[in-house]
Amino acid sequence: MSFRADSAEVIFVGIELLLGQTLDSNACFMSRQLAELGISTYRHTVVGDNPQRLEKAVRSALAENDLVVMTGGLGPTSDDVTAEVVAALAGLPLIKDKAVSDAIRSRYPDRSRHDFSSYPLVPQGAVVFKNERGTAPGSFVFLLEHGSQKAILMLPGPPDEMEPMFHASVRPFLETFSHHRFIHRYVRLFGIGESKAEERIRDLLENQKEVTIAPYASMKEVVIRVSQRLKEGDGTDLTHALVEELRERFGACVFEIGPRPLELVLLDLLAEKHLTIAFAESCTAGMALSTLADVPGSSASLLGGMVTYNDEMKRRLLGVAPQILSSAGAVSCPAAVAMAEGCLAKTGADLALSFTGIAGPGGGTPKTPVGTVWIACAREGESTVANKYHFPGDRIHVRTRAVYTGFDLLRRLLLGL
Ligand code: ATP
Ligand code: MG
Repeated sequence: MSFRADSAEVIFVGIELLLGQTLDSNACFMSRQLAELGISTYRHTVVGDNPQRLEKAVRSALAENDLVVMTGGLGPTSDDVTAEVVAALAGLPLIKDKAVSDAIRSRYPDRSRHDFSSYPLVPQGAVVFKNERGTAPGSFVFLLEHGSQKAILMLPGPPDEMEPMFHASVRPFLETFSHHRFIHRYVRLFGIGESKAEERIRDLLENQKEVTIAPYASMKEVVIRVSQRLKEGDGTDLTHALVEELRERFGACVFEIGPRPLELVLLDLLAEKHLTIAFAESCTAGMALSTLADVPGSSASLLGGMVTYNDEMKRRLLGVAPQILSSAGAVSCPAAVAMAEGCLAKTGADLALSFTGIAGPGGGTPKTPVGTVWIACAREGESTVANKYHFPGDRIHVRTRAVYTGFDLLRRLLLGL
């Protein structure tokens, strides 16, 4: 088969996307995946579950692109119309895929609750991708559009079904149709803002050749992506030199060269050093603990923590002295230190991290404005470190920035940076 997928349009199907009830996270995932495969995405379209409008969108996408990727609208209910529309466009009958239907029936044996007797229907001759997490299979069909060969890939809407399917079977399949290859490397930074980071690499940004670099920032990190498009038959990787240059320029701010977020880097570091950690959280209210607990296997290092939102709780659960709270106040260096040390003593952890601050929008004073956060780290047998920060932005920004700043403080302490 000589089909080449150079350009793609992705169509996301679902009224819930148009109504703003569901965030279109498939958009981000799919574009990133296609880019890594060397397939350029030229357009994203969102359409409701309406056969006429969907057909119009698919026709328009096919007219301008080699590949049309669709997510959503593949389920067994009558509002799921994607397969029907594509089959009609391709002039293919819809047939029951017996292998998939047998697999679904063995997973949902209770006939009184589920009836999958006439499901799933896929266009005849389609390549079918198994759905290990749900019922709607993925499928891929070729079709001729004004004499040129095109293809349509249909995938289920739920990200927790679509993403594993994509990694397991769709991506290896699509690779055979892409004649470009990309290498992407990621340099992840904390402790430097996006504009400062850009300033430091301005010369590199202005002189990009075969290897390109692109910084982007979130509340949790600044990532610099280093990419190279490999020419056909030429597999020389030129990204290493640039990654090393970035490592040198950003020094201690580099927490990862690769895919790991800061919380995972921290947990790996703790596991490597056989250290346990606990949290004493005021303004972050459990977010630090919960962020680490989101990582599978975190229980190896994570002991737990105390959410002590008001003064009484700080006193009762962490033993913070009333004089500290009445004289210095709850958002102060002595309070942060006492919280971290109290947490260390109560939990028996090797390390304790405390957060106390003003997330806003109310509660600020001229001396302690909104965004002020004290973070302290107490360690067994060493003196406690406490720092004052001022984070801009709204409540969620202040709290998230505080959590990741605490993680980074700990990373630097553990590495002696
Ligand atoms: P199902 O078998 O679950 O019906 P489906 O392929 O028919 O699969 P939809 O019915 O279109 O999928 O969507 C099911 C759910 O998947 C939606 O309610 C939504 O939560 C999620 N979903 C669909 N499209 C997207 C998207 N683009 N981004 C994020 N989530 C999505
Ligand atoms: Mg559905």
